[in-house]
Amino acid sequence: MSLQNPVFIPGPTNMPEAVRKACDMPTIDHRSPAFARMFKPAVAGVRRVLNMAEGEVIILPSTGTGGWEAAISNTLSPGDTVLAARFGMFSHRWIDMCQRHGLKVEIIETPWGEGAPLARIEAALKADTAGRIKAVLATHNETATGVVSDIGGIRRALTAAKHDALFFVDGVSSIGSMPFEFTGWGVDIAVAGSQKGFMLPAGLAILGVSPKATAAMETATLPRTFFDFRDMLKSYATGGYPYTPAVGLISGLAKAIEMLEDEGLEAVYARHHRLAEGVRRAVAAWGMTPCAVSADLYSDTITAVVVPPGCNGTDLVKLAAEKYGVAFGVGLGEVAGKVFRIGHLGMLTDVMVLSGLATAEMCMADLGWPIRLGSGVAAAQEYYRGSAGAMAMAAE
Ligand SMILES: *Cc1c(COP(=O)(O)O)cnc(C)c1O
Repeated sequence: MSLQNPVFIPGPTNMPEAVRKACDMPTIDHRSPAFARMFKPAVAGVRRVLNMAEGEVIILPSTGTGGWEAAISNTLSPGDTVLAARFGMFSHRWIDMCQRHGLKVEIIETPWGEGAPLARIEAALKADTAGRIKAVLATHNETATGVVSDIGGIRRALTAAKHDALFFVDGVSSIGSMPFEFTGWGVDIAVAGSQKGFMLPAGLAILGVSPKATAAMETATLPRTFFDFRDMLKSYATGGYPYTPAVGLISGLAKAIEMLEDEGLEAVYARHHRLAEGVRRAVAAWGMTPCAVSADLYSDTITAVVVPPGCNGTDLVKLAAEKYGVAFGVGLGEVAGKVFRIGHLGMLTDVMVLSGLATAEMCMADLGWPIRLGSGVAAAQEYYRGSAGAMAMAAE
């Protein structure tokens, strides 16, 4: 017998049956018109999810991390300076990657739990009168801390400083579950991955690339071959790839976007907000707090829960996996042990979230943490009960 609980890690996320089926298909020739017929709707769908008025969508066999590498290697040259704030494991890893590629990173150190520091970003851009900064990097949703940053605010900082740096955004754990305004925010490259908001297995890096970023690839000298946008775009013109694409995943991507749009993107975002709010009510009822330091920073796709003094978040994650067969996320880096993370992105309903909250409570009780069984679940139930009708009407 195969028993399967939902997962509550912030990616990979739960997969809808229809998406799994769409990935499972017979072999086709990826140089045939049949592939182009499948590929074009996937590309057009990504364009709509990203809210792109212009630019190119590039889908690479890779993961989000490969998407970062593609973004920098296609647009920058060794020795170039980039500006980035570090406030969690994912913003840290992107910075580390830039350094390993021989880029200079002007790092704005920011406490974990805070978001992109707009005033300091603007000050750094204004101070750069020589135009050394070639790109600004931002993590839209810091998956380590459950913090969402104001991406439009960073674009306003660039505008206020009259700075023409490229603007790259990691949207791996936001895109598809939270609103994303590629054109509205003046993003030059957005990076997503298949296994988060798009509800697919890992295996695709999904990028939106602005005309300004495609122009930069003509002069960028960082080495790249597998990720070279120029080869991709040349092959795209004929509906194909410079190498073998992940055909099944692309078929699944088209299906996933069809599902998101059938629900309605606004309804999808409202659902995630509502699910997240229920989780936050539960956290408050446990007497705990999110790692995000203020309500405007609360992520609708992931909550990092700060555990009580003397407790270890990793113990809860281990126990949940071993005793109950349920996956939560551990704390990473600076917040290892201090938080555990509840992922609430992708295919998820209030009923599924309630099962996760109930499991977390069982683990807390098992570990002797100071909570009362049912307290968080009841707080979420009250909230979901009170808002379910409004959701159903909004979806009609
Ligand atoms: C998951 C994640 C990544 C890394 O993506 P992979 O697909 O694991 O390579 C990068 N950034 C953020 C914000 C993420 O959540």
